Amino acid sequence: MKILKYFEGEIVTLKKPHACGENRWKILKKGVDVKLQCEECGKIVSLERIEFERRIRRILLDTGKWIAIVNRE
Ligand SMILES: [Zn+2]
Repeated sequence: MKILKYFEGEIVTLKKPHACGENRWKILKKGVDVKLQCEECGKIVSLERIEFERRIRRILLDTGKWIAIVNRE
């Protein structure tokens, strides 16, 4: 089983962009639910952790590089 590491404050992209067209989200809070804030419009959404881990596609590192998360459907 793979353990997915991600931290509060990091920027991620999801499988689908937000309704406003942006696909960069900041992780505000980790827990049973993961709270994300859209980087464009500021909207905050809450996803169940398992759902978030299914939808996450990339994580932006401090170095400015994106790492891809490969999820099997
Ligand atoms: Zn948005």
